[in-house]
Amino acid sequence: MPVITSYGAAQEVTGSCHLLELNGRRYLLDCGMHQGGDAVSRMRKERFGFDPRRIEAVILSHAHLDHSGLLPKLVRRGFKGPIYCTAPTRGLLAIMLEDSANIYFRDLEHTNMRNRREGKKPVAAMYEMKDVLQVLKQCVPVEYGQEVQIESDLRLRFYDAGHILGSASVELLCREDGGEKIVVFSGDIGNPESALMHEPEVPPKADLVLMESTYGNRDHKPLSDTLIELEVVLEEARRGNGVVLIPAFAVGRTQELLFHLGCFWQLGKLEGWKVYLDSPMAIEVTQLYDQWLDQWDENDQYAMDHFSARSLEEFLPVLSLTASTEDSIALNKLDHGAIIIAGAGMCNGGRIRHHFKHRIWQENTHVIFAGFQARGTLGRQLVDGAKWIRMFGQRYAVNATIHTLGGFSAHAGRDGLLKWAASISGNPALRLVHGESEALTALAHELTTQGHSVTIAEPESAHEF
Ligand SMILES: [Zn+2]
Repeated sequence: MPVITSYGAAQEVTGSCHLLELNGRRYLLDCGMHQGGDAVSRMRKERFGFDPRRIEAVILSHAHLDHSGLLPKLVRRGFKGPIYCTAPTRGLLAIMLEDSANIYFRDLEHTNMRNRREGKKPVAAMYEMKDVLQVLKQCVPVEYGQEVQIESDLRLRFYDAGHILGSASVELLCREDGGEKIVVFSGDIGNPESALMHEPEVPPKADLVLMESTYGNRDHKPLSDTLIELEVVLEEARRGNGVVLIPAFAVGRTQELLFHLGCFWQLGKLEGWKVYLDSPMAIEVTQLYDQWLDQWDENDQYAMDHFSARSLEEFLPVLSLTASTEDSIALNKLDHGAIIIAGAGMCNGGRIRHHFKHRIWQENTHVIFAGFQARGTLGRQLVDGAKWIRMFGQRYAVNATIHTLGGFSAHAGRDGLLKWAASISGNPALRLVHGESEALTALAHELTTQGHSVTIAEPESAHEF
């Protein structure tokens, strides 16, 4: 019988990686990186619980690094097969894997400089940029709904997961011992309320479902409330002649925010404001979203059409893209009427820290957090009400007003997950992945009450079905 073993995202939310064994052949669902810690020690700790040379193919749900970040290392260790993903996912991979590699190489150089000074041996690179390029070469684009016969006993189909551009839920038709089984891997399930993306499409039938559980224990605030809160913050900042800083998640959240700001502008609600996208990576991703406008939710395409806009930049004419360092530094001179969206989302690096240096101690600065802030990050300290923070070897008083907006999640909340599971026929066994323990337990309880057979995936334990 087919066997599935979870090597990551089992009782945790990162490192998504599941091995499917069928008739003696092996396939990977996702090949993600764990998060937290510095890039060098993280990459050194990541290990494969299987031989990459024996993997026939990778099936990739979407481009987020916690689902794709170890592909260069997999290729480096001898994986030569196809990587099935949607075409927009490949486009995002090109941007994200290169960015992640550049951070890794820079940190590796610093580590090795320190090691040399201390007379220690240098740390070898786990992969090189040529491996990133090789990953892109091995990508095989698959459209939503298209059937791909991977082997005579394995057929693949992607469904639009509505999470980020190109994201997919995976359906695998497995033949063995004269019988057929349908395995579904949810990938990350989108938030039906979020802009630009479609509502998540649900595979019709399954025998086994590997299902994400990130928000298994809570629902998000309604988007309409969040947009009103955003308007209120902008009004408050306008009255105080202030500047607004928004730490940016480069993929998805930033484009969604630009779209909502575009709606504000089109409705005359953004008078006196200028918006600056101050992140080279978010700029590239935004341009990629524009290229794939035909994949957006039809209502949002219609809104753009209505105002004759073919890109987010046209939809939000007060938007400036500040890719160069000089343009970014020039933003320090602005004293009011500026909304600066800068990476990184959890403030652990990137240009947002430079803006904090110039503004977080000023009372008329407003900082808006529009996404989850993990423990141990600078963003989390601020959300938790820190009175001062330390950056660049110095203390900074936090006199700015800190706001948290809860409705912009790219993941389905609890009700969305329950609805998604209930839409699959065939009474499948559900195996929960990609969640922390409270979320997994709560979702398992709720799904069991609704009559599903549910287990929580354990790390590296094989599951035959
Ligand atoms: Zn994701």
